[in-house]
Amino acid sequence: AAENREAPGSRILVFVRLRPMAKKEKDAGSRCCVKIVNRKDVYLTEFASETDYLRLKRVRGRHFCFDSSFPDSTPQQEVYATTTADLVEGVLQGRNGSVFCYGATGAGKTYTMLGTVENPGVMVLAIKDLFSKIRQRSYDGDHSVQLSYLEVYNETVRDLLSPGRPLVLREDKQGIVAAGLTQYRAYTTDEVMTLLQQGNQNRTTEPTRANETSSRSHAILQVVAEYKCNDSGTIVRRIGKLSLIDLAGSERALATDQRTQRSIEGANINRSLLALSSCINALVEGKKHIPFRNSKLTQLLKDSLGGQCNTVMIANISPSNLSFGETQNTLHWADRAKEI
Ligand code: ADP
Ligand code: MG
Repeated sequence: AAENREAPGSRILVFVRLRPMAKKEKDAGSRCCVKIVNRKDVYLTEFASETDYLRLKRVRGRHFCFDSSFPDSTPQQEVYATTTADLVEGVLQGRNGSVFCYGATGAGKTYTMLGTVENPGVMVLAIKDLFSKIRQRSYDGDHSVQLSYLEVYNETVRDLLSPGRPLVLREDKQGIVAAGLTQYRAYTTDEVMTLLQQGNQNRTTEPTRANETSSRSHAILQVVAEYKCNDSGTIVRRIGKLSLIDLAGSERALATDQRTQRSIEGANINRSLLALSSCINALVEGKKHIPFRNSKLTQLLKDSLGGQCNTVMIANISPSNLSFGETQNTLHWADRAKEI
């Protein structure tokens, strides 16, 4: 990915990650409709009937190509190294960066971002890498890694590290901040995994889907790294911020073209996800005015999207033909984001 980054912030790098077929999908008789070739190309197959497996017959195929595409066996470490390691390097040089996981509920966003204790995801691996690099480079041992973890649910902002009342967004000299948000100073990677798992459990769950987690909540982890380093004989203070975002499920809020966008906006399905799409569209079209103010999510990420920031999008997809429609929408969206 390094060769794509010669002009920092000039575009979004877009990746696709396919997850393994779930038991539930196998039991429902589903077939695999996604094939990844050469770690880049994604082939999506449409069958004659997406629901009746007896009549499954390949009718159409579509091909997409991304910066990298990860087959279902790709280890977490490889996903981290390909998508996010360069952004961590940028943060240590004082450049903000952000990584988004986008996709339908169940497509693997939280697995990619948070992961499990045995297989930690991008959030944990990024912090681990930050710790080790900052310790090597710190001039005087005086360095800090601070975390905040919040959720945007239904345009309400909540602290995931210290749940309680909704937080108010304020504009101060650093930009837009959530007033009173916990800034947690972290020292070890193990402690971070526990902290984030607890935080994730504080995410809002759907009243109608009591057992499923957080399909309409966006979780944002922001990591601020600060240290002093010796830059060819001069001691300089460096500060950079990495934002890692586990987006709400995209299934009900997709809007890639103007017509559908309008009807969905009327229903006010997920304002923040729509606003993110609009900001990305505006960035794609090279517009001067980017509508950050339209949602809580985009206000919070104003200093981490576009401009001199590094932005990475990971589109998560299921292999099952039962999710064909969602997978197609996700791939179209990712394909559009690629043009920035
Ligand atoms: P989302 O956050 O997009 O709703 P999850 O990350 O919760 O989806 O994934 C749904 C299920 O699939 C979980 O049980 C998760 O552990 C599993 N899963 C997702 N991606 C992978 C993967 N790459 N490898 C193994 N299991 C995965
Ligand atoms: Mg999730």
